[in-house]
Amino acid sequence: MRKMSSIQKVREILPHTNADSLELAMINDWQVVVKKGEFTKDQLVVYFEIDSWIPHELAPFLSKGNEPKIYEGISGERLRSIKLRKELSQGMILPLNADILFRINCWVTFNIGLNEQLFEGMDVTEALNVVKWEPSIPACLRGKIKGNFPTEIPKTDQERIQNLSKHFAKIKTKTWEITEKLHGSSCTFYLDMQDNFHVCSRNLDLQFEENNAYWKAAVMYNVEQKVRDQGLKGYAIQGELIGEGINGNQYGIKGVDFYVFDVHSVNDSRYLTPKERYNVVEVLRLKHVPIISRNQVIQVETIQDLLKMVEGEKSEINGSNIEGWVFKTEDVCYDNRDVTSFKVISNTWLLKNE
Ligand code: AMP
Ligand code: MN
Repeated sequence: MRKMSSIQKVREILPHTNADSLELAMINDWQVVVKKGEFTKDQLVVYFEIDSWIPHELAPFLSKGNEPKIYEGISGERLRSIKLRKELSQGMILPLNADILFRINCWVTFNIGLNEQLFEGMDVTEALNVVKWEPSIPACLRGKIKGNFPTEIPKTDQERIQNLSKHFAKIKTKTWEITEKLHGSSCTFYLDMQDNFHVCSRNLDLQFEENNAYWKAAVMYNVEQKVRDQGLKGYAIQGELIGEGINGNQYGIKGVDFYVFDVHSVNDSRYLTPKERYNVVEVLRLKHVPIISRNQVIQVETIQDLLKMVEGEKSEINGSNIEGWVFKTEDVCYDNRDVTSFKVISNTWLLKNE
């Protein structure tokens, strides 16, 4: 689960170029427009990432005098990427005031034990009753549930580069494969060690149904037969399902299509390297997400520079505005504290599409 809300330190306060009464507070590499003087550099605060669903009582001002909306039974509002006086603002900062400290302390006492200290990076999502906002699932993706997502394969999440400020120096020592991030729905095909074939969405194992979009892709590419023929027991083929009825279909595709972005080996308990992955894609005669670059060294100075690079890039599928890039290490990484992949989402795309 993504940390939607966490304790963070204000890294920097910068002037707002278009408004005297406003400033920019940097939380790691997220830029948030705030009132001048409200926060100071190095102050410990609570930061709420975009797509947080914020309970009304935490920040009633978000509803701007209107009735708050309801999501998953919680009355509140969703945080989006916005521009305030032409400056990008992503997420929300609240001071660690008495009310918030009380809520966090109650939760800590109940869940962890008394006297646990607050620390930078601490996840307070649950303590503050924040949830991640997700768009409602269209009928073609819903399907009949066979079970939970297999525990032996990782879910397909990617960390946002804005949260990796403290890792950026280390990230710059490695070489990366860059692929286009497609905006569809996560889809996993998996032949398990007992020889059972699974078709899974991001979180669920799905029963066969003719009209289910994930299964449509599996059938269209004859994946089950091919992975059996190739003896790919214990391999999970993970990719993005795009097409009609899925997330706005910005690629203008008829029907559905499937693009591989990762292959996981259950026996080795690791992702295949890009090179190994291309081999699997080739023998299975599947499509791979567009490859932007290989063995790429990150030459830009800052995360902000990297974010600028992806702005205005076009999708290789149909020339529409790109959602973003995903970076993956070229080599197997044995230090599990290291960052092995992350996403760089285009802010232009976020402002237009979300
Ligand atoms: P998000 O949907 O923003 O949470 O980003 C993570 C998701 O991006 C993953 O779950 C994948 O479904 C999807 N994705 C799309 N394209 C790629 C790609 N090239 N590499 C990795 N993940 C991708
Ligand atoms: Mn997505």
